[in-house]
Amino acid sequence: MSMKDAVGSLDALQTTDPQVYAAIDAEEERQRNKLLLIASENFASPAVLAAQGSLMTNKYAEGYPGKRYYGGCQHVDTVEELAIQRCKQIFGAEHVNVQPHSGSQANMAAYLSVLKPGDTILGMDLAQGGHLTHGSKVNFSGMIFRAFSYGVDRQTETIDYDAVRKLAEDCRPRMIVVGASAYARTLDFPKFEAIAKGVGAYLMVDMAHIAGLIATGLHPNPIPYADFVTTTTHKTLRGPRGGVVMCKAEHAKAVDKFVFPGMQGGPLMHVIAAKAVAFKEALSPAFKRYQQQVIANARVMAQGLLDRGYKIVSGGTDTHLMLVNLTNKGITGKEADAALDTAGIIVNKNAVPYDEKPPAVASGIRLGTPIVSTRGMKEAEMKEIVDLVDRVLQHRHDTAVLEQIRGQAKALCSRFPIFHSY
Ligand SMILES: *Cc1c(COP(=O)(O)O)cnc(C)c1O
Repeated sequence: MSMKDAVGSLDALQTTDPQVYAAIDAEEERQRNKLLLIASENFASPAVLAAQGSLMTNKYAEGYPGKRYYGGCQHVDTVEELAIQRCKQIFGAEHVNVQPHSGSQANMAAYLSVLKPGDTILGMDLAQGGHLTHGSKVNFSGMIFRAFSYGVDRQTETIDYDAVRKLAEDCRPRMIVVGASAYARTLDFPKFEAIAKGVGAYLMVDMAHIAGLIATGLHPNPIPYADFVTTTTHKTLRGPRGGVVMCKAEHAKAVDKFVFPGMQGGPLMHVIAAKAVAFKEALSPAFKRYQQQVIANARVMAQGLLDRGYKIVSGGTDTHLMLVNLTNKGITGKEADAALDTAGIIVNKNAVPYDEKPPAVASGIRLGTPIVSTRGMKEAEMKEIVDLVDRVLQHRHDTAVLEQIRGQAKALCSRFPIFHSY
């Protein structure tokens, strides 16, 4: 069998399993024809998909390159070494582990390489933009650590670094966690480093959302300031679904030991191959042009919404995402999400800082530009999207209007490929 026959053969899938084939086919159609504005998603390149769909999934490779517990690891060693070297080249980390299966597992590995159950951590509140794995009660991080959280200032809706410092002085964490899933402003890593140093805490930065911006110099790089930096590879970084831990050399052994054998068994070598490909792409000038467009598009989208009387949390965005507070429009996040979905525009409802509604209802929606930018949409299309979103929200009870907009969203998508080359 040639590589072509073995890799991602959809004909074979169609013959073997028509039901799964049909679902994948329908998913492709959904991705092609809907306006996807979920800030944490992206479209991986054809090369990344090919590596991820490859026969490297067949190989067991417990251990690390050159130190495996299985024979026959020459070629998987090659891809893991490429992934590590390229990741180091992008971010400048002293040590990189590319084996975590997800962002959550990357965080678990970073925590437990130096912390013990019962230790104190201080992270950003999930309800104010943080992530589940930064100490939420329903997550392992909140179950095994004593977790405290910081949020944003009520007025500015940005992180109040003095408040973080006071909180750190009160709760004396062993680790301070920086990073967010719904925070649109530049993070000040030197300030967090000073706070962590002041209380003798480790500093961990989870750059999952903004890794693509950091890779291209469009957001400051946390590597010089943090003991640990974790990321997902599938958000702005536009690789396969997965995680990475980076750290200072002094923590290299502890991190590697906790990822394997501490937390995982065999690594997903097909995904690691795809991570290597994504890192190569991230080093290209085209990737920087793409990230510049992601940010330019987000700014135009935020400004367009502001011009129509929408409130953007913190007043705007420095990144690929924005949080729209719909309270002044008398719409809940849940209603907005549902109406937009009917009209072929996919977003997620999201709590806004100090939200009075329960998370399942929420007062806002989160919008992001990574996918529409991957398709090659630019400022003019962002204005069209703002117009569609605004009309949906204004006419959310009028099914005929929603149906019409669904057609317009599809027509806009049809003018762009799934993957544009920048
Ligand atoms: C998405 C995200 C994660 C978790 O990634 P998974 O791969 O879904 O486990 C962790 N931290 C932050 C800040 C994220 O945005």
